[in-house]
Amino acid sequence: MLDCREATGLMSQARERHLSLRERVALRLHWAMCSACRRFDRQMDVLRAAARRFASRSD
Ligand SMILES: [Zn+2]
Repeated sequence: MLDCREATGLMSQARERHLSLRERVALRLHWAMCSACRRFDRQMDVLRAAARRFASRSD
């Protein structure tokens, strides 16, 4: 079973490479019992979207 540190590591890796099936299943199991990591994963998407918007500003 993943701990929170391993889970957040996988969440950031998921944005750089494809996770293996085993890694995805482990992450889903962790999310099922850890609301903090579910929230963290959503926040990472929000932050990345904001960073992309900022980087693509031309003015
Ligand atoms: Zn967690």
